[in-house]
Amino acid sequence: MHQIAWQREILRIVVVITLGLALGWSLGFAQWGLIAGLSAALIMTFRSMASLFRWSYRQGPPPQDSGLVGYSVDKLIRREKNLKNKLSQQAKQLQRYNQGIESLHDGVVIIDQNGHITNFNGAATRLLNLRKADNGQHITNLIRAPRFTRYFNKGNYANALQFDVNHRKRYSLQVQITQFGLDQKVMLVKDITERKRVETMRQNFIADVSHELRTPLTVINGYLEMFSDMELPPALNKAVVQMNSQGQRMKSLVNDLIQLSKLESANTDDTGDWFSLTRTGYSAVDQIHALAGDRVQYHCDDMIEVQGFADEMTSVLTNLLTNAVKYGGDGPIELRIQPFQGGVKVSVRDYGPGIPPEHISRLTERFYRVDDSRESTVGGSGLGLAIVKHALEHHDTLLDIESTLGKGSTFSFVIPAQRCRTESND
Ligand code: ADP
Repeated sequence: MHQIAWQREILRIVVVITLGLALGWSLGFAQWGLIAGLSAALIMTFRSMASLFRWSYRQGPPPQDSGLVGYSVDKLIRREKNLKNKLSQQAKQLQRYNQGIESLHDGVVIIDQNGHITNFNGAATRLLNLRKADNGQHITNLIRAPRFTRYFNKGNYANALQFDVNHRKRYSLQVQITQFGLDQKVMLVKDITERKRVETMRQNFIADVSHELRTPLTVINGYLEMFSDMELPPALNKAVVQMNSQGQRMKSLVNDLIQLSKLESANTDDTGDWFSLTRTGYSAVDQIHALAGDRVQYHCDDMIEVQGFADEMTSVLTNLLTNAVKYGGDGPIELRIQPFQGGVKVSVRDYGPGIPPEHISRLTERFYRVDDSRESTVGGSGLGLAIVKHALEHHDTLLDIESTLGKGSTFSFVIPAQRCRTESND
């Protein structure tokens, strides 16, 4: 196609020059005729170019030209049309994406690298009480829950966060942040109010039943203890001893259930008070002394204070130490509390038979046991590590379990720096 345009252009120039030359020659001024032809060709080319130039920056009908200029104009018009089509297709696609995001039940909030909101959908408007004018605002100025601020500033979004907000209606929300592009974030907001309500009902039910069971159990256990001190016929004595031990198991199960319900329903926005972790360690070792004798070695070279809940931390340490005594063989047990990466690492180590790797990830589930038959004789409720997990969540940390078969196990956790202050003993 462009070859034809070239041919036409050249032909037009040649014809004009030839006509000028022929006219000049017929009048006896061949040279002047050639100059006139060349000038006419130049003017024609110049006019076409000028009309193209004018059209390029002014809307209006395109210049009519059968040569190169006309060809270029055609090409440009076609290219512009294609571009417009593509743009309108992309705009439609963008509109469909936006409609899709808008129709989601879950809230979607786009956040830039500085933590400012750049976009959000209708569900986010409802769940987080946002307004159009909130675009450009920092997300932590709009979501005021302290747990959210801590989660957002921490920058570790591997796990979702649950928290409550209260505007017009009380919502329980679960947010999950994902990074994309260069430091951009998309935050998904799920309404879990109903799920939480059912969960709370379940927790309340378990707590109520456990409380109701406590009084009759105390009475039954009291009588059983009294009987076990009496001279009874051997057959009856055996039954009383068994009833007594099962009664004690039930009592510890009920107590663990009550403790777990309390932990589950605790206000997670409360960060607790400062207490001495060093002293909590001593008190846990003391409590376990009756069970473990001198097997527990306590290592803590610093005076360490932690912000949290002393009673929960005592429960964590006694549960881990009790497990080490129950399942960790006859070797020594080490409780170590030491500064670690700005925070504090707490570990309980035993040199027992260890835990098969396939069980490790499930140990903190309620009532999960590695070997049910063996452990029912040892007397655990199966709730100890579930209690530990919940109590540690209140201290912004997770339980880590390492174990090697035949060599023993280490249960540890790291309390983050912002919850610790250390004073060296030396
Ligand atoms: P329990 O009340 O039965 O002790 P836990 O939740 O405390 O329940 O522990 C769950 C299971 O984890 C235990 O039944 C036991 O099988 C295993 N376990 C816990 N600690 C240890 C340990 N130090 N060594 C080996 N197994 C352990």
